[in-house]
Amino acid sequence: MSQKYNSINNYNKTIKIISLATIALSLTACSSTSITPQLKTNSEPLKVAISNNQANSKSQPPAKVENLTFTVPEKYQAKTVYKVEPSNKEKVIALTIDDGPGPKTTAEMLDILKQNDVKATFFWVGSALQENPEIAKRVVAEGHAIGNHTWHHWYRNMDEATAKNEIERTNDLIYKTTGVKTSFFRPPGGYLNNGLATYAKSKKDSVVMWSVTSADTDPRAKYQVFIKNILRDAKPGAIVLMHDGGGNRERTVKALPEIISGLKQQGYRFVTVPQLLEMEH
Ligand SMILES: [Zn+2]
Repeated sequence: MSQKYNSINNYNKTIKIISLATIALSLTACSSTSITPQLKTNSEPLKVAISNNQANSKSQPPAKVENLTFTVPEKYQAKTVYKVEPSNKEKVIALTIDDGPGPKTTAEMLDILKQNDVKATFFWVGSALQENPEIAKRVVAEGHAIGNHTWHHWYRNMDEATAKNEIERTNDLIYKTTGVKTSFFRPPGGYLNNGLATYAKSKKDSVVMWSVTSADTDPRAKYQVFIKNILRDAKPGAIVLMHDGGGNRERTVKALPEIISGLKQQGYRFVTVPQLLEMEH
């Protein structure tokens, strides 16, 4: 009797987990082969989904973007990465977009990325995320990868407790807002010696730098320069830096369609940073 009950119960759980997995996969399906959304049976939202569902008999769980974990391949854990050397020099490239989310620019970039079927990696600032939770949910729902870019975007030297707080406070809000757990960290300004990267490495995060910059933080440059910078420096396995927050990024929005079309013309395929790190031979 109790065995029968257990097996039915397990069967129901299996079905529910599969349906959750299907939802999660469909959200990242377009280009995702190496980011497998990981369903963690010990994480809170899944428990909630199952118990809601049990109370609700056969109904499907709501389509939530939850339990998505961006994990770092072992080779890159506690390492700083600027680019990778993909097998056979395959023309793959990762666009990274820092300092958001912001309400207007991020939405405009998401539209452009969607139109072109491109997935990017967004490194979020916690204080910006606090201001713009809805756009953050959209970023995740549209299949982009997420990294941590601290709470305050400070450059100064930090003691361990401050560095920890900058990163963990942001991780906590990313999780609470979107259900995402990420082990990808980008230090503000690319500063590797102010305590942040050391803390990130102590918890086996990947410290993600870049090998190509749009230089879109230059206040005097015309948007065409951002396009030129990227198309000139693109290489297989490159990580490209641009911004959707931390200032007026309308020029970056203007440049983005030509950045994408130019790279496509050069034969590049766009991957997220978690995908890129799986591609090294
Ligand atoms: Zn930044």
